[in-house]
Amino acid sequence: MTARPVALVSGGSRGIGRAVVTRLARDGYDVAFCYAARAEAAKETEERAAEHGARVLARRADVGDADECRAFVTATEDELGPVDAVVTAAGITRDKPLATMEDAQWHDVLTTNLDGTYHICRPVIERMARRRAGSLVTLSSVAGVHGSVGQTNYSAAKAGIIGFTRAMAKEYGGFGIRANTVAPGFIETDMTAGISDRARKKHLGRIPLARFGTADEVADLVSFLLSARASYLTGQVLGVDGGLVI
Ligand code: NAP
Repeated sequence: MTARPVALVSGGSRGIGRAVVTRLARDGYDVAFCYAARAEAAKETEERAAEHGARVLARRADVGDADECRAFVTATEDELGPVDAVVTAAGITRDKPLATMEDAQWHDVLTTNLDGTYHICRPVIERMARRRAGSLVTLSSVAGVHGSVGQTNYSAAKAGIIGFTRAMAKEYGGFGIRANTVAPGFIETDMTAGISDRARKKHLGRIPLARFGTADEVADLVSFLLSARASYLTGQVLGVDGGLVI
């Protein structure tokens, strides 16, 4: 029996991360994922992935903490084996106009989204480079590509993720490692559940496909980018936004 490849996902307990964990399990991966606090939600993701025959490691690890991320990567390799694929989906928003933004709101968003991406990729890339193989997908946003009102913190973090990923793609392409970014538009998850009906109507008017996307639709793109079908794709930013940004 050949071993299943191993995927490591940050923010896998809910939303896009959960859809990615489930999709990768269905694709034939064993999957490790981390989450911030919601153990019940993590348990549900674990069960969904296990239904596809995957070995699953669910672990609480704050992506804002470098030591916790390093320990998570080590535990993944110890329990499941060398990591072949990485998806950094952990993210938060703390929206506020810039003039009234509190320092904590700025730092929390930068720490979780941007530092969190670095804290996961840093220990993994070291191992992938030694094995000269691997594929990574980071989660940006249309906000990171075009900027978004009320989200200077989030837009800065998500733009930073694009620069980080492209630099990683250049630095490690010669090691057989690919790195790409997915930039979703409005996706139906807890993150967008608080959008008012009025704002939702306004957003829908700007989306050619006239609806928010699903987490599964993002997971499909992630699955493709990690797969051999995307073997000549690296350093790209792929929108999955119903045409919001064209
Ligand atoms: P979500 O439903 O709010 O889920 C967020 C996930 O990240 C949860 O699993 C959460 O864990 C985890 N998380 C948050 N902070 C963390 C931390 N410090 N350490 C470890 N895990 C942490 O969000 P989503 O909508 O799926 O978003 C996933 C990614 O896509 C994010 O990077 C987001 O910025 C990006 N994105 C989303 C949209 C959208 O419309 N939804 C659009 C563009 C980009 P707990 O369950 O334990 O809290």
